Amino acid sequence: MDIYDRLGVKKIINAMGTVTKLGGSLMDSSVFDAMAEAGKAFVDINDFHEKASAYIARMLQVEAACITSGASAGIAISAAACIAGTCRANILQLPDTTGMKNEILMLKSHRIVYDQALQLSGAKIVEIGYTSFNCIEMVEKAITDRSAMFFYCAEAAETRGSIPLEELIAVTKPAGIPMVVDAAAEIPPVAHITSYLQQGADAVIFSGGKEIRGPQSSGLILGNASLIEACSMNCSPNHSIGRSMKVDKETIAGIVRAVEVFTHHDYDAQTGVWMEQVQRIHAQCLEVKTIEGSVGFPTQPGIQPRGIPRFYFGVKGKNSKEIQEKLRTGEPSIHAGIEHGFVAINPQCLKEHEIEVVINAIRNLGHAD
Ligand SMILES: *Cc1c(COP(=O)(O)O)cnc(C)c1O
Repeated sequence: MDIYDRLGVKKIINAMGTVTKLGGSLMDSSVFDAMAEAGKAFVDINDFHEKASAYIARMLQVEAACITSGASAGIAISAAACIAGTCRANILQLPDTTGMKNEILMLKSHRIVYDQALQLSGAKIVEIGYTSFNCIEMVEKAITDRSAMFFYCAEAAETRGSIPLEELIAVTKPAGIPMVVDAAAEIPPVAHITSYLQQGADAVIFSGGKEIRGPQSSGLILGNASLIEACSMNCSPNHSIGRSMKVDKETIAGIVRAVEVFTHHDYDAQTGVWMEQVQRIHAQCLEVKTIEGSVGFPTQPGIQPRGIPRFYFGVKGKNSKEIQEKLRTGEPSIHAGIEHGFVAINPQCLKEHEIEVVINAIRNLGHAD
């Protein structure tokens, strides 16, 4: 009996990916060890947070880093940093932004449910353009002396109303407006750790509990030293907007160890394993005549990460929602997503022995009535 059994909570098979509502990702046992080790002594948390963040920055080859309690916290904290900077009076005054720049610019097609976190700082979101159209002239017109930050959502980069990051930076940089990129779930590819910064972004935000496989409530803001310094001052344990997004010493130790593991992970080999798994699922499911499917990568904006192959399928006579529901309510319960109309099996969080279980469940759907 584990903790879930004892509390009567059903365990599920996660064929969806690193989504928070299913528990994000599973940590390497050495990450648990690091957390347990950190739990055995008291330290100055500011000192630990600073040194751990600096070590992570070195490992990821970026100028500076700030450990947060998640990407969502990173969004709130970076907004507070862009508005209040390093001035303690300003930091404590938020979310009242009186006397400070408080407008955060965003392309309309980049609005996401997570951008609510920007507004925790007291910021006002200024939407630019239309869902289906945008142009750089509209961006130029939206810039005022109240502009505090530009927020770019990486997963929306391919939407019709988007503008390439570099074109935006060509306008925001001369205007002195920090560019912050939300790339919470954009790994793999690992190159994304540095690519947005190389394009000129001032900071990029990642979830620690997705493919980095750190504690679920961890995240990273990576970027230039001055903005990251402001982030740290607007972050726990300092009294600030970020104080309510506390990062404990165990989580700090956990994300440090997770980044060590992550930077040594062989993603060429990993991609090969994922590909073999989805191809195996594909081959065995298509033996059943009522099942049709293919192996591919996500192409629709908003579906991440793009670097992981999926098995897309349908069953004759059933729509995707019905199939998804049948898998979810089956025994064991399998959670799968729907991408461009097909049910999608994402191998990112599947354990090897679960592949067979998923194959059998899908084959049974094809055989049923
Ligand atoms: C997952 C996600 C977040 C939130 O990440 P947490 O680490 O769970 O707070 C923010 N933005 C995007 C685009 C995400 O996919």
